[in-house]
Amino acid sequence: REAITAVQIERTYTKKEILSMYLNVAYFGRGAYGLESAAQLYFDKSASELTLPETALLIGMLRSPSRYDPISHPQRAIAIREVVLRNMLNDGELTEAEFAKARSAPLNVKYHGPSTGLAPHFVEMVRQALEKEAEKYGFDIYRDGLTVYTTLDTRMQEYANQAVDQHLQQYQKMFDSRWNWKKNQSILWSAIDKAIKDNPEYDDAPTPQAKKEVYNRLKSNSFFVDSVRKAEQTIQVGFVCIDPKTGYIKALVGASNYKQFKYGLNHVTQIKRQPGSAFKPFVYTVAIDNGYPPSYKLLNQPVTIIMPDGTRWTPQNFEGEFGGEVTLRDALKYSLNVVAIRAIQEIAPVNEVIDYAHRMGITTYIPPYPSIAIGTAEVIPLELTSAYGVFANEGVLTKPIFILKIEDKNGNVIESSTPQPTEVLSKQTAYIMTDMMRGVVNGGTGSRVRNYFYLDCAGKTGTTQDYADAWYVGYTPQLVAGIWVGFDDNRVHFTDADGQGGRAAAPIWGMFMKGVYDDRSIGMPVTSFVQPEGVVTATICAQTGKLATEFCPDKVTEIFNAKYLPPVCDVHTSPSSSKIPQPSGKIGY
Ligand SMILES: [Zn+2]
Repeated sequence: REAITAVQIERTYTKKEILSMYLNVAYFGRGAYGLESAAQLYFDKSASELTLPETALLIGMLRSPSRYDPISHPQRAIAIREVVLRNMLNDGELTEAEFAKARSAPLNVKYHGPSTGLAPHFVEMVRQALEKEAEKYGFDIYRDGLTVYTTLDTRMQEYANQAVDQHLQQYQKMFDSRWNWKKNQSILWSAIDKAIKDNPEYDDAPTPQAKKEVYNRLKSNSFFVDSVRKAEQTIQVGFVCIDPKTGYIKALVGASNYKQFKYGLNHVTQIKRQPGSAFKPFVYTVAIDNGYPPSYKLLNQPVTIIMPDGTRWTPQNFEGEFGGEVTLRDALKYSLNVVAIRAIQEIAPVNEVIDYAHRMGITTYIPPYPSIAIGTAEVIPLELTSAYGVFANEGVLTKPIFILKIEDKNGNVIESSTPQPTEVLSKQTAYIMTDMMRGVVNGGTGSRVRNYFYLDCAGKTGTTQDYADAWYVGYTPQLVAGIWVGFDDNRVHFTDADGQGGRAAAPIWGMFMKGVYDDRSIGMPVTSFVQPEGVVTATICAQTGKLATEFCPDKVTEIFNAKYLPPVCDVHTSPSSSKIPQPSGKIGY
């Protein structure tokens, strides 16, 4: 049948016309049908502007668009381009000089994927969700002319992109000048080894001998080695902003190179990393919920814990400072590791912490060991961010959503989603935690936020071992946003204190919120967190933590859950008592 069709066509059209008709519909891979779309997709230009080597590549790709894909398989693409050019040379369409020049030209691919634009990772997340829905409802997402309403706010997305770009440009430069591959040779060689074994060319090699040849060729190919090195030292990022009342994802940046979208990994939804100190709010939430006030003191002294494998471990504070007792408020503000460990041992039992984290939306496995207090259990950035939304939303969890409504081409609603709020914490506990996390921003480890953003906000930094992961999750009364910054290969890491969450991640948060709240077209209200009924402010004795008498020498104000007000100070009960030396040892309240 095809032969007959071809004959009929040949009678009516010239060869050139047939060729151009064919080129108008032929498949060039990655969803591109026709030469014009292919030119746009791969070279970001019109077909009429293509150079000779570019045209030759696209023609060569027709044989098997995926096999000769210039993005996944640049070497194969160069080889097939050369085949086409050589045919043209043999047919006398090219001179030797033209041939030589074209064959040595770089591929020059400027991949402009269909998913690029403001929020490619968000769009891809929507596409993947639609594909799942398609099975359920039996629609074809590419042909049925569906209209999909999403939760994305394009204005907020612009600010997210800008904040990430601006911060990472500077950070990448700084990192590149400090990271030393000579000191990390073994990481580089194992990364190259892995990249070669993942390469389809290696995979396709038929015999062990052929594989060995491919292996050695790639290993000594400086272009290949450079590309691995560059990928290894690229700072990655996941940024997400959610409206905690509705769960709507308002902005999402899935990677640092989101513009090319060559690399589809979404670092908001598809990675699991240790949160470090960004996990501590779950510990302190349990303590507060169990009736311990922010003024409760714990010893800031080294503590040794037994690890799951039976080894002993003595965690350090990041700044290495120990001494005396500190309040829960200050321990969170300055992110003191040993106090978080003592809290989980003394006032916030491990199983309760796990239970609270799960209730607040963490679905990843949290092993029942004290080390989780400083964030050794991996989490997904989206879930951690959403969990902080519970504090912003007065104890109510609304799980993140990103598709509002799907309509068919006639405007019939196929599916729509509505927020499902669940109360998971008391208003009082949520507010007390917010007030403690205000301290993190105001003078604590997250104070770089204040270089950009001045309105009421709260949050927590996180940093993991060897500066492999930097986190900041924070919120205003209206929005919660979380940022993870790190490397895809977590053996690559920041080299000094610039890898702390407060420096590597928090500035992105500040820049983003400044942009959003300054933009009148978005119209975010300027409000403060509201102290709810059931939370009271009281003056307490700084020494005993109990309600102050007129004789207490140092007084501070603190907020309390009204249910758990401390008793009146019983040390300073008369004018002379303020001179009595305070008892040693741990003091409750
Ligand atoms: Zn007192």
